[in-house]
Amino acid sequence: MPLREPIVQAPTTAGIKKGDQVRVMTGKDRGKTGRVLGVNPSKRTVTVEHAGVIKRHTKPNPSKNIKGGIVEKEGPIAISNVLLMCPACNKGTRLGHKVLPDGTKERVCRRCGNTLEK
Ligand SMILES: [Zn+2]
Repeated sequence: MPLREPIVQAPTTAGIKKGDQVRVMTGKDRGKTGRVLGVNPSKRTVTVEHAGVIKRHTKPNPSKNIKGGIVEKEGPIAISNVLLMCPACNKGTRLGHKVLPDGTKERVCRRCGNTLEK
């Protein structure tokens, strides 16, 4: 039997961009909405404001003027676990694409067809 190639997932952002409003669909932050702070296409993750927060314990380092303590920081969430919020229907939605007459692509809500570009 031939060895199977390891499944390498192609980098993707699933159409999600920094600054988008998304809804978290799984995990302890399920149902939360927040702004996308960053997208990591190769890991297929996003960081979402106030969601997926992880606590980091830091040691004080006076020479670098770092106070010790617990720092809360948004951790990565799988892109597949978030849905883009449509401002028109106010729900999480999957993205569709519409090609405009001039050839540019626009992201649209699959529920209502509203454009998601600002
Ligand atoms: Zn919509």
